Amino acid sequence: MPDIADRLKNVSVSASVAMTQKARDLAAAGVNVIALSTGEPDFPTPRHATEAAYAAALGGDTRYPPTDGTPALRAAIARKFQRDNNLDYDVSQILTAGGAKQIIFNAMLATINPGDEVVIPTPSWISYADIVKFAGGIPVPVACPEENNFKPYPQDIEAAITAKTKWLLLNYPSNPTGSVATRQELQAIGEVMLRHPGVWILTDDIYEHLIYDDVTFYTLAEVEPRLLDRVLTVNGVSKAYSMTGWRLGFCGGPKDLIKAMSNVNTQNSGGVTTLTQAAAVAVLNGPQDLLKERAEIYRQRRDYVLERLTSVHELRCHKPQGAFYLFVNIEGCIGKTTAGGRHIDNDADFVMALIEEKHVVTVQGAAYGMSPYFRISYATSMEILQDGCDRIAEFCAGLK
Ligand code: PLP
Repeated sequence: MPDIADRLKNVSVSASVAMTQKARDLAAAGVNVIALSTGEPDFPTPRHATEAAYAAALGGDTRYPPTDGTPALRAAIARKFQRDNNLDYDVSQILTAGGAKQIIFNAMLATINPGDEVVIPTPSWISYADIVKFAGGIPVPVACPEENNFKPYPQDIEAAITAKTKWLLLNYPSNPTGSVATRQELQAIGEVMLRHPGVWILTDDIYEHLIYDDVTFYTLAEVEPRLLDRVLTVNGVSKAYSMTGWRLGFCGGPKDLIKAMSNVNTQNSGGVTTLTQAAAVAVLNGPQDLLKERAEIYRQRRDYVLERLTSVHELRCHKPQGAFYLFVNIEGCIGKTTAGGRHIDNDADFVMALIEEKHVVTVQGAAYGMSPYFRISYATSMEILQDGCDRIAEFCAGLK
């Protein structure tokens, strides 16, 4: 077979995608499987979004789109940034692409030269490091210890910055930990970044609206406007509006960066599907009540899973304040043997044994750069969560 490109050699298949596929395969084989691996809302797309897409299709809006996004969509995004984040982006500072993932991909491709470094507070979303490597860069993890609620210490970020650093990537609420940065914490990171004018900062705010308790969401560009000419504020409709399959991400940022990313867009996609753009205009301009209603349902699920898993002796859980994940410490399980005779040396062993013996699918912490943990997604029904927690508790009770 002819060769595959070298640039793909260090890029891995996302572990959460692999685990989700494992859950599908087991279900297809007739196994009663509990999938707690998927990072996507289980709610339907709002009806007015689907209707807008349908109307657009019937109305003949089926030709090549403007690559950066339709004027109506970019205006809706500008209003969203103003309404939710106090950010005044001109439409020329706004870009759309096929998901926040593609926005991040385009940003890295537009800026990274071979050997450039990207500082990533870790544990972190699986794709960041792989996207950076794909673009020819070097991911530089900064540990976010559990005792600091899985958030980085500003001095550790500063220590990781070198002459080669091109980006700092921030993600709050965080996947996989659900941690949320306070205004003060962002200010402290902002202070560090003001001292390093050669570094771009990307804030991935995709879980912005999934936030619980009395926590307020802030994004770096609003907290530290002096960084506006270096911050790329990334968001999308996937998680907030249950529109993962529509594939729309967007960003606001400095014009020159947006222009460079737009060049990438013209070559790698030609813009987002017209029907998706129409649907996104409808949700961004439409009623926003569903955001709070759905966040309340996620909060109830979080409380349930947290209570159940906290009562399992071998597990340690911190309380996430956003997103829909729990990042659970399994130190208490390491070195033990399962009821089915499997030895647990690390979190990958734990996750595999849980699948094999209890048919519960989760993702190992190693995939997010921190062990020994596993990630549970609670973006699923209470019945499934109940069953999943029962099985996890039984599994841990069987450890010797
Ligand atoms: N950013 C984070 C932190 C995520 O967890 C995900 C999806 O899991 C994405 C971005 C991707 O979002 P999109 O569906 O808009 O590509």
